[in-house]
Amino acid sequence: MRFDSPQCPQCGQLAKGVLETIPGLARLLFDEDGNAEYAGSTDVCWDGQEAIRDEQGRVRLICPDGHEWLAEMSREADDVTAQRRQDP
Ligand SMILES: [Zn+2]
Repeated sequence: MRFDSPQCPQCGQLAKGVLETIPGLARLLFDEDGNAEYAGSTDVCWDGQEAIRDEQGRVRLICPDGHEWLAEMSREADDVTAQRRQDP
């Protein structure tokens, strides 16, 4: 994948990573009356992990110093790999 601006606009370092969300199933405990409370553990759903995007589809990158900026993300490299796999 590629980013239109992989370098931090404030300090110039390359991005440490892209901000993503991961859904989790928070376990519940029910009493005899049907009232629920949190059991205290969460099952992380790794298959649902995805980048947080703004309304224009840009992702949020973060540098090692904690600065954040928005960037366009393209999956060009992945697409080329996928095409090669389909070629006989
Ligand atoms: Zn920075």
